Amino acid sequence: VGSERKSAAPSPTASVKISSGDRVIFPDSGETKGDLADYYEGIAPIMLPFAATRPLSLVRCPQGRAKKCFFQKHDNGGFGDGVKAVPIKEKDGGTEDYLFVEDARGLLQCVQMGTIEFHGWCARTGAVEKPERMVFDLDPDEGLDFADVRKAAMDLRKHLADIGLTSFAMVTGGKGVHVVVPLTPGHSWDAHKSFAERFAKALAQAEPDRFTATMSKEKRKGRIFIDWLRNQRGSTAVMPYSARARENAPVAAPVAWNELADLKDAHGFTISDAKKLLDRAGSRSLSGWGFADQHLPDV
Ligand code: ATP
Ligand code: MN
Ligand code: MN
Repeated sequence: VGSERKSAAPSPTASVKISSGDRVIFPDSGETKGDLADYYEGIAPIMLPFAATRPLSLVRCPQGRAKKCFFQKHDNGGFGDGVKAVPIKEKDGGTEDYLFVEDARGLLQCVQMGTIEFHGWCARTGAVEKPERMVFDLDPDEGLDFADVRKAAMDLRKHLADIGLTSFAMVTGGKGVHVVVPLTPGHSWDAHKSFAERFAKALAQAEPDRFTATMSKEKRKGRIFIDWLRNQRGSTAVMPYSARARENAPVAAPVAWNELADLKDAHGFTISDAKKLLDRAGSRSLSGWGFADQHLPDV
């Protein structure tokens, strides 16, 4: 049941046949698999600088987001030529192929296979032992206002700036904000994880009523969990501009710091906003988002 996509961009390399394009995969808001493919084709130019050449973990929901979804990080064949494999050493000494993409064609072949979300490592395929971004994933306890999350993100930004690090904010399309710190690769995963852990724990210790740095739900009561665990080897965080398999087809969206102050939630952008997101990305306040040439401090 192939269906041609209406607004397919002219790029011949991206053109990927989407089967069951009229299948509704976001039942609450009505978007189809074809709509999602159109979104990714449109957004690819601004998403690929983040999502390309990075080991990925896909959230696949072949029957739509309301049915069974699963994470997939290995290419078990069948995706197509745009989905590549990078061999990565496992803890047990063996080697596994992790999947990655390089272009819009790769993204769309993943969508063809029922992918809704793209999550990525904090390292690139060319140097998987050298992390090049740090993510602080702010997870509010139920019942906290988004205002609390905003404030937390801005506080992280300030504390990072105090140690010389530029950071960027992304609303996840869910409940929280990711504070992203681009880093020039060079340091090890151990140094990366250890820095993230110490930074999160210092904040939690300084303001235990607002923050926790431990995963336990119990300790989260009324607090924001500063999830630093995204920064270990093998962990992933949702990629900028990834769609989310959540109500109303939201997307993870980079935002400017001054803009964050006025946002009322983390899921205000959806897959219908490709054009808006493309226009925004070129704006003065968002251009350069997520990139900075800076080293992990020696602390
Ligand atoms: P929200 O703002 O609603 O918290 P989120 O994307 O930050 O959205 P989390 O549940 O905090 O969602 O997860 C953070 C990240 O951890 C995800 O973006 C994902 O990359 C990763 N993750 C979470 N659960 C799994 C899982 N079961 N398998 C692999 N990765 C996961
Ligand atoms: Mn989160
Ligand atoms: Mn989390």
